[in-house]
Amino acid sequence: MTDPLINPTALSGTIERILLADGCTADEAQTVADHLVLASLSGHDSHGVIRTMRYHLWIADGTINPKTPLTTVLDNGPLLQLDGQDGMGQWLAKEATARGIAKAKETGIGLVALRRAGHIGRIGTYAEQACAAGMVSIQFCNVNGSLLVAPFGTARRCAGTDPVAVGIPNAEGEDFILDFATSLVAEGKALVAGTGGKPLPDDALVDADGRMTGDPRVLYGDTLDTGNPDPRGGSGALRAMGDHKGSGLALACELLAGALTGNGANRPEEKQFGNGLLSIILDPATFDDTGMFGREVADYIDFVQSSPPAAGVGKVLVPGDRERMLRAERSANGLPMPEPVLAGILATAQAVGLPDTRDDLIMR
Ligand code: NAD
Repeated sequence: MTDPLINPTALSGTIERILLADGCTADEAQTVADHLVLASLSGHDSHGVIRTMRYHLWIADGTINPKTPLTTVLDNGPLLQLDGQDGMGQWLAKEATARGIAKAKETGIGLVALRRAGHIGRIGTYAEQACAAGMVSIQFCNVNGSLLVAPFGTARRCAGTDPVAVGIPNAEGEDFILDFATSLVAEGKALVAGTGGKPLPDDALVDADGRMTGDPRVLYGDTLDTGNPDPRGGSGALRAMGDHKGSGLALACELLAGALTGNGANRPEEKQFGNGLLSIILDPATFDDTGMFGREVADYIDFVQSSPPAAGVGKVLVPGDRERMLRAERSANGLPMPEPVLAGILATAQAVGLPDTRDDLIMR
């Protein structure tokens, strides 16, 4: 049976109403709902609407807290140090990015250190926000309290799936949006494999004895059989991407977005979940004394995209292309959603007293 196709606007409305019922402000509810739907439309289902159920539970147990303001720890020249106090992550990161953009417009650079944010979702969103304002940006993120990844050469969890993003505006075409987790595969993909879905590559995980494997059981242990697999349940780990180079980037995220922001770097002890984000936002207009930046970006992206494809590759893409293509296709035809995810969202809506909107959500 094929997955039902969901109307993204109606889905965003349902998630927004769940979050309002859970105590979010109107702005928080709309920001988080729109973020999740856009992540799903962009093909990042692991960071999309599937998170609705988890956020509902996290609000109930105090892991994340609606109506928590973004507080300023330091505002000094281009530097901003902000504390999210475990509030609604996507709303906090959007506000933090907006403040960084304002700094960059004033001085050419905004350097924003955000700590203790609830889950901020798809990091590329903030690179896109900066690009929309004409800004270059670099984001390092750590996931404190989510120890899942073994760095290169180890058989021990030492890091989160810590993502990195780079956004470069392209005034004459599509923006460059690089955005990826520094683990070889996202935890969501291990979950899919562990529950009967697409298998993982043979080197995606490492067991406690240091042997590479594609078996998700080393991550979840016996919780894989419980219906509620817990990635803390196993004795192995996800592996960092890109051998020593990608692994070094994961450690840099722990140090820059964890240690430097004050969010904290991962350790074996139980910790409160929290994203740390170090964003460097640059106004190219300040740097571009030659006036070449816009032309160079457009020409360079064209140069790469027009390269002859390697064997087996249909079309050469640059970072950001895949998300844009999927977004266009899914916005037009509907968001494919596995029935258990749809059922989970509807059950959450019902739990907060909302009517069943299944018929409004399904396009076909
Ligand atoms: P991924 O492996 O799908 O890589 C995505 C990047 O690769 C994008 O920039 C994309 O445009 C580019 N890309 C994809 N196909 C390409 C191709 N054929 N040619 C050129 N470029 C191509 O991403 P991922 O590692 O699975 O990460 C998924 C999402 O999870 C990201 O949005 C990330 O920010 C998010 N994440 C968030 C957290 C958090 O704690 N908030 C933690 C981990 C990951």
